[in-house]
Amino acid sequence: MPWRQSPSPYRTWISEIMLQQTTVAFVIPYFERFIKKFPDVRSLAGAKEEEVLSLWAGLGYYSRARNLLLAAQKIVRHHRGIFPDDFDSLISLPGIGRYSAGAILSIAFQKPYPVLDGNVSRVFSRLTAQNKTPEEWWKMAEDLLDRDHPGDWNQALMELGATVCAPENPRCKICPVSFACAALKTKTQNLFPAPKIRKNIVKVNWNFLWIERNGKVLLWNRGEKEKLLKRHWGLPEMGKVHARVGSLLKTASHMITHHQINVQVYQGSLKKEVSAPMKWVPRSELPKFLVSSLWKKCLPKAN
Ligand code: SF4
Repeated sequence: MPWRQSPSPYRTWISEIMLQQTTVAFVIPYFERFIKKFPDVRSLAGAKEEEVLSLWAGLGYYSRARNLLLAAQKIVRHHRGIFPDDFDSLISLPGIGRYSAGAILSIAFQKPYPVLDGNVSRVFSRLTAQNKTPEEWWKMAEDLLDRDHPGDWNQALMELGATVCAPENPRCKICPVSFACAALKTKTQNLFPAPKIRKNIVKVNWNFLWIERNGKVLLWNRGEKEKLLKRHWGLPEMGKVHARVGSLLKTASHMITHHQINVQVYQGSLKKEVSAPMKWVPRSELPKFLVSSLWKKCLPKAN
């Protein structure tokens, strides 16, 4: 994995944030592109939000990218650009919680902090054939931690969960801790951990307008108050601009967390000129602004 080559606190941080909710194979090309463009904290701190978001396009959970930028700026402002190596400073950075702080401290600084993610708690649940609260699993992670090699230990544990003790069909025959596994002994691997209660799917209907003039397309910054894709650039929703609505150009369906979004894109023509938070963007530059994978599905093709 590229973040294991020449490891540094910065590279560990970027990889750990990217790996949240995302698989290793998917993250690798994103990580490589990101590190090429922003090789260190200072280069990231000086970036524009759009640049960071466009490198994040397709990874989802875009608040992670915004928090990386805010945290890099804070490290430059408050820590002279040097990555902090203590828990309290790390946890005060945007987007860094107990898990990320533990991962950075143990992997990059060899400090004895545990980690707990979905992979680790699944291993613990099966090893003990119990369902416990996250707080109890944190306690187990703390108790088991190899204090002489905390980085290796944590990475091994996470990887065991990701590659061997998988959610479906755990590979118990090759598992290095099968000798101690209560779930294997009782053949109850698939009962642990107890399935999460899924949130009900919420249906959302969005009607967008495609308004093009002289090779430029009108975009709308969705702002802080929008429930989904907050502060993202997107096509204007109907009702946000005074426009004539023309023919239906495209329909698409897209999931964001537990929201199923049905999208209709209509041709539009302005009845009244617009100002911020709208802007005209050359068609060729749309990928820089429209970073959510929603837009890949619903942008009309160029004529
Ligand atoms: S023996 Fe099987 S269920 Fe138990 S920890 Fe290993 S892979 Fe998971």
